[in-house]
Amino acid sequence: MARKTKIIATLGPASATADVIGAMVAAGLDVARLNFSHGDHESHRRMIGLVREASRIQGRVVAVLQDIQGPRIRVGTFPNGAVDLVQGSEVRLVAGEGEGDASRVFVQHLDTMRLRPGDRVLCADGMVVLTVRDVDGTGAVAVVHTGGRLADHKGVALPGVAMGLPAVTPKDEADLAFGREAGIDMVAASFVTSGADILRVRAVAGDVPVIAKIERAEAYANLSDILDEADGAMVARGDLGVELGFEPLPRVQKEIIARTHDAGGISITATEMLESMTTSPRPTRAEVTDVANAVLDGSDAVMLSAETAIGKYPVRTIEVMAGICTEAERTPGYPARVAAAFLPDDLPFPTAIAQAAADTANTLRLGTVVAFTESGNTARLVSRYRPNSRIVAFSPSETTLHRLAAVWGVTPLLFPRYASTDEMIAQAEQVLLERGLVAPGEWVAMVAGIPPNQQASTNLLKLHVIGA
Ligand code: PGA
Ligand code: MN
Repeated sequence: MARKTKIIATLGPASATADVIGAMVAAGLDVARLNFSHGDHESHRRMIGLVREASRIQGRVVAVLQDIQGPRIRVGTFPNGAVDLVQGSEVRLVAGEGEGDASRVFVQHLDTMRLRPGDRVLCADGMVVLTVRDVDGTGAVAVVHTGGRLADHKGVALPGVAMGLPAVTPKDEADLAFGREAGIDMVAASFVTSGADILRVRAVAGDVPVIAKIERAEAYANLSDILDEADGAMVARGDLGVELGFEPLPRVQKEIIARTHDAGGISITATEMLESMTTSPRPTRAEVTDVANAVLDGSDAVMLSAETAIGKYPVRTIEVMAGICTEAERTPGYPARVAAAFLPDDLPFPTAIAQAAADTANTLRLGTVVAFTESGNTARLVSRYRPNSRIVAFSPSETTLHRLAAVWGVTPLLFPRYASTDEMIAQAEQVLLERGLVAPGEWVAMVAGIPPNQQASTNLLKLHVIGA
């Protein structure tokens, strides 16, 4: 059975050639993530070109995800690039971007924050922790709670502190304008904290799906509001683990995945999934189990970051991840029938048809459900009901195919428009046979909005015998 859980991998210096990207696509890459915290527009444009080329050569749909930096706060610089902060020592926090030392640390945007004594300042993924003691007109005095090395431009998290920062920074605006022009397929928005933030990103990003990265405590607290506006959510375990502490992550991951699914969005589990493969050709057993558990939690997609962006084994890491997903999906009871309530006000016919198609596929043990789809909605709805079969999405729209690349269980295939339902079904059968996705005599379920080409919403479920 084909893999259902999609694989997202971050591109970077380790994956910047046609050969490596081609091999990553062949190994199962579904979505290429470009991290706009690094690199310039020209390097991103090159990467997009390489992804499109590999996808074209191999006839496999691969989407490009633009991950924008958002309002991330960073420390300034230090002499020789880093400073050692000693536990118990006093550090003055100063607003801005200058060069500090062991007693003075510059923090971006400090002047717009509402710091209070007792607030924690988590630097470098929480490796160095400061506690605010006094706040005055020009900054704050903090005490080093957990000492350690702090390098130039490391990120800073201030859990619970009101930031007073825009959700879309001037850099994000420029990056999103570039993304629109370069034809990216979806956007991941960093450090959003509300549904209104998603709307702000959308206003600049245009008509592309927007995934909310859940990486601030405030975002987790406002999850329902965010899910009302976003097309999906990423469990951004790196920064979220800094804000919440790492202990709640497994529970919070399960909750975010389930609630995202209930809201009809796609869920992505991210960060350190196969971290040791950044330098090692094989994963730890704990990492194997982590990826498998993210699959069993119901993730639409699992994501690689440093492993494929700067790691030594970008292709091998994708092979390993694909293998773990496929094996995890063989676990009895998978895919868990996540309660996807029937929503009569929300596309009543398409919802009922999708649910019936998934039920029928399971009852008859079908290998394939075919969804004819213009916008992708039909395929997305069938996916939501998590059938055991693969979902082949036939669409004439490249945009739709790319958006479906991140959706659980969906194999997107380009398919022309046909004038009649009969012709459409006959041609679909041909394509499925040619691709080896079905055998003569096999049963499949097909869902469509008929008559074709009239923007009819999904209203047909056909049970079909191939070649009959
Ligand atoms: P990042 O986001 O990789 O852009 O930091 C993911 C995370 O924080 O886990
Ligand atoms: Mn992050």
